Amino acid sequence: MIPITKVVFGPEHEQQVLGVLKSGQIAQGAKVAEFEGLCASMAGTRSAVAVNNGTTALVLALRALGVGEGDEVITSPFTFAATLNAIIEVGATARFGDIDESYNLDPNTVEPLITSRTKAIMPVHLYGLPAQMESFQKISSRNGVFLIEDAAQAHFASTEGNKPVGSYGLGCFSFYATKNLTSGEGGVVTVNDPQLEESMRTLRNQGMKQRYQYEVPGYNFRMTDLAAAVAIPQFASASEMISIRQENASKLSSELERIEGLSVPRSAEKTNHVWHQYTIRLTEESNITREDLANILQEESIGYGFYYPRAVYDYDCYRNHPRVLIENSSNAELFAKSVISLPVHPHLTDSDLDRIVSVVQTAFSQ
Ligand SMILES: *Cc1c(COP(=O)(O)O)cnc(C)c1O
Repeated sequence: MIPITKVVFGPEHEQQVLGVLKSGQIAQGAKVAEFEGLCASMAGTRSAVAVNNGTTALVLALRALGVGEGDEVITSPFTFAATLNAIIEVGATARFGDIDESYNLDPNTVEPLITSRTKAIMPVHLYGLPAQMESFQKISSRNGVFLIEDAAQAHFASTEGNKPVGSYGLGCFSFYATKNLTSGEGGVVTVNDPQLEESMRTLRNQGMKQRYQYEVPGYNFRMTDLAAAVAIPQFASASEMISIRQENASKLSSELERIEGLSVPRSAEKTNHVWHQYTIRLTEESNITREDLANILQEESIGYGFYYPRAVYDYDCYRNHPRVLIENSSNAELFAKSVISLPVHPHLTDSDLDRIVSVVQTAFSQ
């Protein structure tokens, strides 16, 4: 079996975790502080606030910016439900632009949606490909709206402006088990503004600046030192792991791009794509359906995923939701029917890559 993701831990992780266990202090402490420092340098920001997952990172960012009832947030229609759930959670209203062939939110579809109620734009760096942040930054300053980056899939990616993702607005990362860097469950918000940082630290910890001095109704969004210890060693190996992902993606594309009816993923010019997922798309010229291809991969024991099988709002619970405003996101709806992600993780061997290529080639030549 060639799995779609694979997590490998070495002695350096065991040593870190054992160190925390032996210290007897397993909740938020010194390891979380160390983790925050590593995250701030990853995103090139002044600081970072660690939380218990990527969804709460988004909620914390929205709350710190004062986004709530009556406010609109514009995001991508092609993302994981967490992006939308965070907007709903804080009481705001979600609106959607459309994606382009990069699968990321197209800035041209965002500006027409801006109204006096718009409080933030929340682009997603899908599959590890940075969204067009230089454009979003212009739109944001022209219209006086905040930027929040859903960087859950894009640790260490950098934009067309040669800046790290997470350095434009508040940068929300996930450290869930399947992400490029992981702590099992975990998240972080990268931040430059000291006031926003302080507000997030307070909200994260039941609204307290000092023990039992409640400033605001808050949450328990704290990360544990145990989780931080799992993530810490991965920062040192991140650039090597990302290089392998990039090599794997280019090996796959150099063969798969020759297949008629199949569109291979592109890395936009000047950006550093970190290949959380390698996602191909069956075009109108394809002689097989996505389900045919999925069945063949299944038979050949090659992992795959539909990321994502529908536009994020395309479920009854969102279609019937009063605070989810649906526009015409036709690319998202079309691509959701035709994308399929193949393994690209750094633990693939050359023979795994050859096998993936030949199985896909054979599927299309039937
Ligand atoms: C994983 C993910 C999240 C949520 O992160 P969790 O840590 O699972 O809560 C949010 N947005 C996107 C795009 C993701 O892929």
